[in-house]
Amino acid sequence: MNIIKTDVVVVGGGIVGAAIACGLSLGGIQTVLVEGRAPQREWEEGLADLRVSALTQASKNILENLSCWQGIEKRSVTPYREMKIWDCAANGALHFDGADVGGDILGHIVENRVTVASLWDALEQNESATIICPARVTALDNGKERARLVLDDGRVVEAELVVAADGRESMVRTMAGISVNGWEYDHSGLVATVRPEKPHNEICYQRFLADGGILAFLPINDGTCSIVWSTERGHAKELLALDEGAFLKALTEASDGLLGEIKEVGDRAAFPLRLQYASHYSKGRVVLAGDAAHALHPLAGQGANQGLLDSGSLIELLLEAHKEGRPLASQHALRRYERWRKSDNYMMMGAMDGLKKVYGVSFPPFEQLRSLGMNFIDKTLPVKNQFSRYAMGEHHDMPLLSKGGLAGI
Ligand SMILES: Cc1cc2nc3c(=O)[nH]c(=O)nc-3n(C[C@H](O)[C@H](O)[C@H](O)COP(=O)(O)OP(=O)(O)OC[C@H]3O[C@@H](n4cnc5c(N)ncnc54)[C@H](O)[C@@H]3O)c2cc1C
Repeated sequence: MNIIKTDVVVVGGGIVGAAIACGLSLGGIQTVLVEGRAPQREWEEGLADLRVSALTQASKNILENLSCWQGIEKRSVTPYREMKIWDCAANGALHFDGADVGGDILGHIVENRVTVASLWDALEQNESATIICPARVTALDNGKERARLVLDDGRVVEAELVVAADGRESMVRTMAGISVNGWEYDHSGLVATVRPEKPHNEICYQRFLADGGILAFLPINDGTCSIVWSTERGHAKELLALDEGAFLKALTEASDGLLGEIKEVGDRAAFPLRLQYASHYSKGRVVLAGDAAHALHPLAGQGANQGLLDSGSLIELLLEAHKEGRPLASQHALRRYERWRKSDNYMMMGAMDGLKKVYGVSFPPFEQLRSLGMNFIDKTLPVKNQFSRYAMGEHHDMPLLSKGGLAGI
């Protein structure tokens, strides 16, 4: 039997898993990354990919400290300077500007495939990292002495610690016996890349629609926009089934012509939205990160950002343990990680869920009140700037990687 022995095995090479594998191996921990599907590393020029993320300054710092931001810049990245949000049921509006909080920009829009390809490039440069791909994990023995993973090609990986970064449907989480709680939203998130008539001027737009839907336009540097249209599941299905002309007309109407007529659309896809959180972040030798630990509503685009903060925190605690010669799967490190990240992730999930509910109410007096609140925040600079800083990723207890480099650990 082919047995691969290592310190840590990370399952899932998406943004979160690849970032963790990068950070641990940079710090000298022998790390194996197992990924079921080879990510796209090259592509022809054309419309941006369907999956993009609005990354905060904190996420940028983490990626920079993992030596992968340069690769992102080489491929494609769009800074956004402002964010305009409004409630079309009444006249509430909010306008965030990087300049108000002493910066030039609020964050960056990056295609997920760009982030993953750049992280994999960085990983391949690292002698302490081994990538096994394509291979899926099919069985887990969460043993007392070591954890053992069986892969679908017959290989076995033995490690001190297993990091489950295998997404929302995490099989490793299920095999470890960690339960999840949460609920389905009646919405799907429809994503597409579109070309509007007017320039986006590097502004993100978010419109709370009268039917309870939420429509976001994220700017891409070739003049296109990536959209996330969160809408009732049946409506999302209808929108996917429309021919291109009818879809462009529906989108132009829903956006109230804010960027003029929408002229072109690429592929469309819709993801059912769900709030989900794991009851525990670790069990035995298994620890969860990213969507495997928490999935939230994408209305403020924070899923990948929260996952990168998980990555930064876990890397920091494991490198600390490694430096002090403590076991990597010690309860000391894993419980600290859980306490650290659970509260921040709960707060973000609660905020997103609360916003989704508040904007789902269509009762005119409540809509008026909601808009008054929005306009009040917009005019009260200290409160508004607090929101800006939080949206830019400045939480109260940030991992070192989101500020300084690995040298600080
Ligand atoms: C419509 C929509 C819009 C969004 N917009 C934003 C945004 O603007 N900003 C933001 O921050 N977030 C956004 N998010 C959320 C964000 O995309 C996710 O939170 C993030 O991609 C999760 O990353 P991850 O690495 O945890 O999981 P994933 O990206 O799901 O990666 C998991 C990986 O594990 C692999 N895998 C799974 N099972 C196995 C197995 N058994 N063996 C081996 N490999 C396995 C998979 O192939 C995959 O590569 C959005 C989400 C949605 C649905």
